[in-house]
Amino acid sequence: MNIDELKNIVFENGIVGAGGAGFPTHAKLSAGVDTVILNGAECEPLLRVDRQLLAVYTDEILMTLSLIVDTLGAKCGLVAIKSAYKAAIGSVKNSIGNYKNLELKVLPDVYPAGDEVVLIYETTGRIVPEGSIPISVGTIVMNVETVLNVYNAIYLKHPVTEKYVTVTGNVKCPSTFKVKVGTSVAELIEKAGGCLEEDYEIIMGGPMTGKIVDRKAPITKTTKAIIALPKDHPVITKRKTNISIELKRAMSVCSQCQMCTNLCPRHLLGHSIEPHKVMNAVANGIIADTTAYTITMLCSECGLCEMYSCHQSLSPRKIISQIKTKLRQNGVKNPHSKKPEKANIMRNERLVPMERLISRLALNKYNVDAPLSADTIVPSGSVIMQLNQHVGVAANPVVKVGDMVKEGDLIGDIPNNKLGARLHASVEGVIIDVTDHSVVIEPRGDFNG
Ligand code: SF4
Ligand code: SF4
Repeated sequence: MNIDELKNIVFENGIVGAGGAGFPTHAKLSAGVDTVILNGAECEPLLRVDRQLLAVYTDEILMTLSLIVDTLGAKCGLVAIKSAYKAAIGSVKNSIGNYKNLELKVLPDVYPAGDEVVLIYETTGRIVPEGSIPISVGTIVMNVETVLNVYNAIYLKHPVTEKYVTVTGNVKCPSTFKVKVGTSVAELIEKAGGCLEEDYEIIMGGPMTGKIVDRKAPITKTTKAIIALPKDHPVITKRKTNISIELKRAMSVCSQCQMCTNLCPRHLLGHSIEPHKVMNAVANGIIADTTAYTITMLCSECGLCEMYSCHQSLSPRKIISQIKTKLRQNGVKNPHSKKPEKANIMRNERLVPMERLISRLALNKYNVDAPLSADTIVPSGSVIMQLNQHVGVAANPVVKVGDMVKEGDLIGDIPNNKLGARLHASVEGVIIDVTDHSVVIEPRGDFNG
């Protein structure tokens, strides 16, 4: 197989970064890479998907990674797994000897080990320059489930119609399910035995970077977790704080202690992001130094500064995110391009252990197993297939109301030369609605029997 053939298979089958980013995978695959890194860090608390897939589908994942390394003409593939994921490490150790171009890299159990820039440093010692992408240092990073999806596409001719999702938090039976894309969050909560309290909120994604969603929200190709938490849980109340109140709090209580900067993972790799400077500029209305605003473009939004570092419970990330959005809306481009050669000498001492992060987030009681279920969840109601569940342009619907579709049929396509990912029906059924945002399928036929 050559690179174009691989890219074509990946594009045809609608594969995107399944770890949460949603970047169309075919656009990442190119020559000029010497190292392909398999991201098995899964660094958000409570998530279980990638470590389970690595333990169960070890050979499918490793053989596909090995094929990708060879096809791209890279020298090696690094399988990066956190030290805490013993079953995954054991399984990979048993098989990796069969793949001469692969090597296991055990990561420290810290947050955010899965951030691409952090992961590349931990596995290769290279630092991605400011505002750059992994290929600038000869690497590409692929999520575990993404590589499994490439396996499904190449060997089983199966497009992305299913997703592995950990359903956890305040539910009766925390579990990891394989679900049809487009299934509602409510159905997953139900399959996990329901929530133990009536008054709860749902986070889609991890507690650090996920978003509060409605019960009707559909699972997408990037959903890694559904976490039910009581409405007054600190992770929920922090999400709901109002930006204007956060700005006022920054003005009145930011002590400029710099702890947010000292622990910032990107800052520790030599990038110019310094959240305390942003807070100072915002709190005091300083506009003479525009750098304090443009450095926001170097923030990965990992959330460490506001969920862990700040002793005053301020929200640097929220404020940084707001500034970044405004700058982009006004056409301001990132002016920073420093190429750090070394990480901060204090970096190792300032890494944030997962155990302490989980404790700080008051998630200890929810940090339990969520075993991988053997069955695929069959939706009982309609599935909502979002047309923009990836980076780039939204897919154009290629079906209309009344059409019958089978699982795997193309329902959304991407115009030529545009970045995006194709969309396939996740169930057999009839199209009952088509809008600019989604295609809705009502399951019919034996499949739903
Ligand atoms: S950690 Fe909090 S109080 Fe300290 S500088 Fe940062 S935002 Fe201000
Ligand atoms: S969210 Fe905070 S800690 Fe994370 S990269 Fe941005 S500034 Fe740094």
